[in-house]
Amino acid sequence: MFASITEGFKNTVNKIRFRDDEKALKKAVDELKKSLLKSDVFHKVTKEIVVAVEQETKESGIGRDNFLRALKNQLTAILTVKGNQGFVFASKPPTVVLMSGLQGSGKTTTTGKLAHFLKTQKKKKVMIIAADLQRLAAVEQLRQIAAKIEVELVADEHATPAQIVKEGLQRAEAELYDVVLIDTAGRLAIDAELMDELAVIKQIASPDEIFYVADSLSGQDAVRTALSFNEKVGITGVILSKFDGDSKGGVAIGLSHQVGVPLRFIGVGEKMEDLEQFIPERIVNRLMGAGDIESLVEKTSAVIDEKQAKAINKKIKKGKFNFNDFLDQLEQMKKLGSMKSLMGMIPGMGAMAKQIGDMDLDNSDEIRYIKAMICSMTKKEREDPELLTNSRKRRLAIGAGLDQVQVNRALKQFKSAAKLAKQLSGKGGRGMQDMMKQMQGGGFPGGQR
Ligand code: GDP
Repeated sequence: MFASITEGFKNTVNKIRFRDDEKALKKAVDELKKSLLKSDVFHKVTKEIVVAVEQETKESGIGRDNFLRALKNQLTAILTVKGNQGFVFASKPPTVVLMSGLQGSGKTTTTGKLAHFLKTQKKKKVMIIAADLQRLAAVEQLRQIAAKIEVELVADEHATPAQIVKEGLQRAEAELYDVVLIDTAGRLAIDAELMDELAVIKQIASPDEIFYVADSLSGQDAVRTALSFNEKVGITGVILSKFDGDSKGGVAIGLSHQVGVPLRFIGVGEKMEDLEQFIPERIVNRLMGAGDIESLVEKTSAVIDEKQAKAINKKIKKGKFNFNDFLDQLEQMKKLGSMKSLMGMIPGMGAMAKQIGDMDLDNSDEIRYIKAMICSMTKKEREDPELLTNSRKRRLAIGAGLDQVQVNRALKQFKSAAKLAKQLSGKGGRGMQDMMKQMQGGGFPGGQR
């Protein structure tokens, strides 16, 4: 996700051999500047970062470690502005959030994602109020989203936005909802009517937060419109949507600093799970290549069935991981979204994530071979990989429409995965290193083309 920036940092640091002199520092600083600009970080923000990093490094003594520390400090400073970080609940429920944004920014989808995040990860009782009555299709879209994530929706196409907000909030109070998300009207561009409508809803709802959803693909326009909304209605947070499409990522670095309002979440895909909290320290660690295990754990726990995960873990530890478990694991992985976004969160894996690209778990050849092969197995064979003798393998090849080489390769990958799973479950911290080694060796399913 931040692949280009992280890559830039790595190049900066790798190219520079500090010899305790100012010339070397100047070179490092120039490289840093180039890499930030290349990643679309706003030029003024870039300048601020670069100047501050240079000064801090000089003060603490020119050297690679001090340069990196200065970079980390300055990135943290740029990303941290006054205001709430992540999602903050009001002291007295319900926490009321107005969702605002221009049409097409991803506001409706993001409202669904946020509701899903609060319900599944924070275990809250969530209500959505459909107050975007400008675009009637938006109500229907929300209806479908709410049904899918099983969250209460208050909607009435015949009411006014003010009426529906009042009705929803009364119900939320009476029925003890924890959070109410109000989807407000979107427009193609900022106009007075839109701002007036928002102001009216703001007055009625006295929201705890006003989030502005901006499309990261619109680059600096996202910043400009956020500034405009902030000036006219006052926002407390920004959510950058479609971050998965913006490989450069620089807009997320400068945004909070430029708008003066914290970036709270980023949308990283079209699925309901594809929303991540933007916590400055975590992001800085990720940018510096230290990974972001907390985000990974959050994301994983949201979709993986806990009971199933425990059962599989037990089997793995006993070395009894079989083909059925393997199929289950593949399904779970699919739910987690693309491998790429996940791998970016694992320390040291950012660069590899780029190599692998968007692996498609449905359409990769390896996965299709393995699935076809497993489908041709008898129940007993699925449960016990040891049963697969050469004659059985020949039968599988015919059944799955594969040749012998493909079957052998698929089996080899299954064995690597089982071995890898066992190592991961057994050795705590070292597991991650083993996993990297395995993946570099191409032993992970799909890691080899
Ligand atoms: P609205 O008009 O602002 O309510 O926008 P929608 O919620 O309808 O979103 C517009 C389009 O952007 C839809 O096709 C969404 O699926 C898509 N979208 C929203 N957020 C994301 C995101 O984080 N990543 C990607 N890839 N697509 C997104």
